Amino acid sequence: MTAYERSKIILRFADLLEQHTDEIAALETWDNGKPYEQAAKTEIPMTVRLFRYYAGWADKIHGLTVPADGPYHVQTLHEPIGVAGQIIPWNFPMLMFSWKVGPALACGNTVVIKTAEQTPLSAVYAAKLFHEAGLPDGVLNVVSGFGPTAGAALASHMEVDKLAFTGSTDTGKIVLELASKSNLKPVTLELGGKSAFIVCEDADVDQAVELSHSAVFFNQGQCCCAGSRTFVHEHVYNEFVEKARARAMNRSVGDPFKVGIEQGPQVDSDQFEKILRCIRSGVESGAILETGGDRFGSNGYYIQPTVFSNVQDDMSIAREEIFGPVQSILKFKDLDEVIKRANNSRYGLAAGIFTHNLDTANTLSRALKVGTVWINCYDVFDAAVPFGGYKMSGNGREKGIYSLNNYLQVKAVVTALKNPSW
Ligand code: ADP
Repeated sequence: MTAYERSKIILRFADLLEQHTDEIAALETWDNGKPYEQAAKTEIPMTVRLFRYYAGWADKIHGLTVPADGPYHVQTLHEPIGVAGQIIPWNFPMLMFSWKVGPALACGNTVVIKTAEQTPLSAVYAAKLFHEAGLPDGVLNVVSGFGPTAGAALASHMEVDKLAFTGSTDTGKIVLELASKSNLKPVTLELGGKSAFIVCEDADVDQAVELSHSAVFFNQGQCCCAGSRTFVHEHVYNEFVEKARARAMNRSVGDPFKVGIEQGPQVDSDQFEKILRCIRSGVESGAILETGGDRFGSNGYYIQPTVFSNVQDDMSIAREEIFGPVQSILKFKDLDEVIKRANNSRYGLAAGIFTHNLDTANTLSRALKVGTVWINCYDVFDAAVPFGGYKMSGNGREKGIYSLNNYLQVKAVVTALKNPSW
């Protein structure tokens, strides 16, 4: 198929996805528990946008001519890598599908994608829409299944040429090992995080509270880049804690299909139990429980929006990824100190900085060892902006121009010139 044909099919798919936003958003909410409004108004439109972005790339991918020493004509061919194996998590099923499938198809690959066992529905629906859009049979293959069986089979398959994985750091290590033990397929990994959200002394506290609140509570706290360590300068600390508690107490929790609901249930009982264990550990380690701390109501996997203050760096709630609606507030005195403390993590996915001081913003954004720095904003996921982690948050970048390299092979073609003088 020509690159232009590929581009048109992806665009047709994006149109269909847009037309079926309501159904797909409902599937996301049934599967995951996330607020329907969030899926319908934010996530599905972002998914559509991402496919349109990569459709635009399909016919603009090409190699170079290279001025080599000697009597040679040298060119590079940018070829599809082959069969892309992809494993995605349950927190943003459609969006993760788009980050993986968009660039892979734009570059001319075929795909076998395994969805998370908790959230298989939307990708199956999307596959049907791809079929309607004219994608030939066999180009996009959606597999529902469990990690250690279906996922591991994909990671270790000898005829899968590339693996892209999003999930926990522990599982990332497993798939990397399976890939290296089988055919050494290249692996991109987007893993966990414990991202710092830094509120500087010049901050407008009300704005900082609101932004840091959504940075950690968005999607029931189930985001790899959740701003789950809220560092607050000592000059604004007391006011911030008071207002952060009030904001969390105001968060509307309940049936995710209801209008105005900000927080639905956690995805399953495993996550629910794990988060409650983390909360207990925060209390036991001496952090101050400002609000929340228990299940919400008596039915379903709902958790009270929870805020801890007086959190210390060595507490497990400040070190381990909780993946739930739990804010940990830590106090700091100066920039050098907060840089060291923010970087003192095995993760390095993202950071938020809240300041209007240009020098502070520049210093922090250069010093933090993370893949994304958001200044006076958070969770901005434009299709063109790369996303990925430092350290144990993974390797490789997704979205933007950077993701194309994950799905291309470069071939150098060197031709001897018969008459080099021309
Ligand atoms: P979480 O703990 O947040 O569910 P996981 O990393 O376990 O995150 O899951 C992310 C994805 O990885 C899911 O699609 C899951 O099925 C898959 N997975 C889990 N274990 C394995 C494994 N051993 N091999 C390959 N894939 C796996």
